[in-house]
Amino acid sequence: AKYVFDFVEGGKDLKDLLGGKGANLAEMTRLGLPVPPGFTISTEACRAYLAAGTVPAGLFDQVNAHLRLVEDRLGKTLGDPADPLLLSVRSGGKFSMPGMMDTVLDIGLTDVSVHGLAAQSGDPRFAWDSYRRLIGMFGKTVCGVPGEAFERELAAHRSHAGVATDAELGEADLHHLVEVYKKVFADHTGRDFPQAPHEQLYLAIEAVFASWNTERAVLYRRQERIPQDLGTAVNVMAMVFGNLGSDSGTGVAFTRDPATGVRGVYGDYLSNAQGEDVVAGIRNTVPLQRLERIDPRSYHQLLSIMDKLEHHYRDLCDIEFTIERGTLWMLQTRVGKRTPAAAFTIAAQLVDEGVIDMDEALRRVSGAQLAHLMFPSFDRAAAPAPLAVGVPASPGAASGRVVFDAGRAVQRAAAGEKVILVRRETNPDDLPGMIAAQGILTSRGGKTSHAAVVARGMGKTCVCGADALAVDTDGGQFTVDGTVVVEGDVVSIDGATGEVFLGEVPVHPSPVARYFEGEVPSGQDGLLDAVHRLMLHADRTRRLEVRANADTGADAARARRFGAEGVGLCRTEHMFLGARRALVERLILAETDQERQDALAALLPLQRGDFVEIFEAMDGLPVTVRLLDPPLHEFLPPLEELTARVARAEALGQDPGRDGALLVAVRRMHEQNPMLGLRGVRLGLVVPGLFAMQVRAIAEAAADCTARGLSPRPEIMVPLVAAVQELEAVRAEAERILDEVGGLPHVRIGTMIEVPRAAVTAGEIAGAAEFFSFGTNDLTQLGWGFSRDDVEGTFFPRYLGMGIFGVSPFESIDEPGVGRLVRIAADEGWAARPDLKIGVCGEHGGDPDSIHFFHTVGLDYVSCSPFRVPIARLEAGRAAV
Ligand code: ADP
Ligand code: MG
Ligand code: MG
Repeated sequence: AKYVFDFVEGGKDLKDLLGGKGANLAEMTRLGLPVPPGFTISTEACRAYLAAGTVPAGLFDQVNAHLRLVEDRLGKTLGDPADPLLLSVRSGGKFSMPGMMDTVLDIGLTDVSVHGLAAQSGDPRFAWDSYRRLIGMFGKTVCGVPGEAFERELAAHRSHAGVATDAELGEADLHHLVEVYKKVFADHTGRDFPQAPHEQLYLAIEAVFASWNTERAVLYRRQERIPQDLGTAVNVMAMVFGNLGSDSGTGVAFTRDPATGVRGVYGDYLSNAQGEDVVAGIRNTVPLQRLERIDPRSYHQLLSIMDKLEHHYRDLCDIEFTIERGTLWMLQTRVGKRTPAAAFTIAAQLVDEGVIDMDEALRRVSGAQLAHLMFPSFDRAAAPAPLAVGVPASPGAASGRVVFDAGRAVQRAAAGEKVILVRRETNPDDLPGMIAAQGILTSRGGKTSHAAVVARGMGKTCVCGADALAVDTDGGQFTVDGTVVVEGDVVSIDGATGEVFLGEVPVHPSPVARYFEGEVPSGQDGLLDAVHRLMLHADRTRRLEVRANADTGADAARARRFGAEGVGLCRTEHMFLGARRALVERLILAETDQERQDALAALLPLQRGDFVEIFEAMDGLPVTVRLLDPPLHEFLPPLEELTARVARAEALGQDPGRDGALLVAVRRMHEQNPMLGLRGVRLGLVVPGLFAMQVRAIAEAAADCTARGLSPRPEIMVPLVAAVQELEAVRAEAERILDEVGGLPHVRIGTMIEVPRAAVTAGEIAGAAEFFSFGTNDLTQLGWGFSRDDVEGTFFPRYLGMGIFGVSPFESIDEPGVGRLVRIAADEGWAARPDLKIGVCGEHGGDPDSIHFFHTVGLDYVSCSPFRVPIARLEAGRAAV
């Protein structure tokens, strides 16, 4: 098989094979941009390696053949003692995983060739520094030597030489450091640092393959829902040097501001440095504009390349570049990550610039981004003066208790606390802590530091480079101007402004949420205008209707403002709580028909009032009311509480009164598995008059609204049906009551499909149902046979870790399993009754991936919580373009 591809052979559409980095390096090469020559080893080779545990046969022969092409082009050979070609070996999967897998620079330096590099560059200090970096990087990433082992030596040399930074170390210091590093390497690995350049290359390639499965890479992919079996490509390319003096340097750039979407020159530059120095946020960079003064020729060349890339990719690009003695080299580009606000703004801008159409614009934003924009932000008026101001790296408003290490963040978050992870700078080892934290605060690094890039990717609030903070991670504290903040203190960080506040700051709603509420117009603001236009387009395009799950008039009204086209699930159990509990108790304790009738009669007007409010809020739109679903004993006090109360009364020689009767009832109604017990339609068929009362309340409420000139459109939904006979029984009674009340438009009667038996007998059930609504929560519980309330703390973490599922089936619908039940039921339902309306009212109705699936199945609507309605509208639109 062909495993190796020269940069001239690839292109940007080959990301599956060459990874993102390799595909884009190839694209830039083909565009004629200055890319150092090199080649890419395919992801297929990596998959073969991961499957077999060794590199596939013939791989290194292919590598050697392609290496010779690079050598010919440059007139140098790898590790040549007199004038060595040096290589970088870089990982790069299909999806960008910033900082996830490791890069080794300066491959090809040995005890001999380091002298050649010194002579050729005329800069022996640089040669020894490069060799030192190679031994460190190679030791750490290829051979697993702990990075601190090298860093300790480096720090010791700095203090011995009496200097503060590595840059001040002289040639002699570095030469000596190389010897020390080699000893560290040998001590930890039991072998000498490899002196054969090709061996270095092969080992580095294998290490990149193997790094696909490091713990942090696996964790990142799980977070980002990247499949675990893709494998990474390996890019091998000639080194160029940004650390050859003040006419050299390295930087990163964006073609638009990744935080706001505004066009311009955005980036950071670091002179006399290698790329890793910028990304690591170790030294402080200067704004890219400064390069115009430092090296105007390279600066203008860079701007014109950026322009070319934007036009070519028709999107925001980010770029890594290096200048070697006045010559500009492109080391990486990709369609850049951006904040949610920038995603919307840029999509609309590109439409206005005529670069893309509205369909494409819709593809470029996501429901997850919209959700992020609807988060609240800090109430400025209530905020104290900021403790410090850093770089606004990833927006949002986060408050929490300060922790200084990732492990503590995970611990305290697991205990239910909100935490802010504070570090000098972050590295990939901090990832679990970054995931656990509400927000991330660092004292060093810019918008392109590890903390910033990863936080933006995760949609997590981040302020970085707050250099007023003196962070002492070992001491567990930071100080700003004499204020000491220790672990457990509360701070608030604003990822949109970079402000850091002491204490908790109140939050207020986002402008985007207020726009949806109808409180602010979309006109004046670029972001709101973009959201407005994209939502309009999504609404025009989508085929799925979007309804809301709403149990009260207020919820229904809010959902309607957010664009809901009806209520897909109105849960009546919420109407049995609070002060009405006493009535429910009376119903349960009723010993005679009369007592039961009285209790129901008392509930009737209350239920009717609730429905009136909802019908008013949703006037003209369908409202699906679900008859009572949970077991009745859920409305009674818990057994322990009652037992204690009765025991107390008896001990005092008092009559426990009603508590005594309740206790008897609770004992009688106790179920081992209430989820599988007397609930839903079973309750309706067993408790005489219960469903009848609810149907009457619905009918009377609708009649009341109709009499006032409104157009209520109630639908009656029966929960937990497993057999058509159940539905037929409820339906007959309901129709009788609807007739009795009279004066109503046709009221549809339908059922939830949430029991696997219902799904596979949907054809029969459709005979008695005018609509189906998939209750995907219960369908998932019953389909998998596990209870949602119990899995999180028990085996789910392990299952997720083992990849039995990549994401919880309660979050995104399990397509092959539960999704198949949905398909079967929908197809059989439509076959039996072509005008059957089918929707979804489980949590999945607001989940982007699931919405795309429901669109594909051809359902009529999804129903979700009011706040997620805009997200569902957007995703339903995206599913249709
Ligand atoms: P990441 O995926 O973490 O960004 P990269 O593969 O881009 O890792 O490499 C890390 C750094 O190494 C980059 O910032 C880049 O500047 C530097 N680098 C990679 N290849 C070369 C090269 N051929 N010459 C000089 N620097 C390089
Ligand atoms: Mg990079
Ligand atoms: Mg249910």
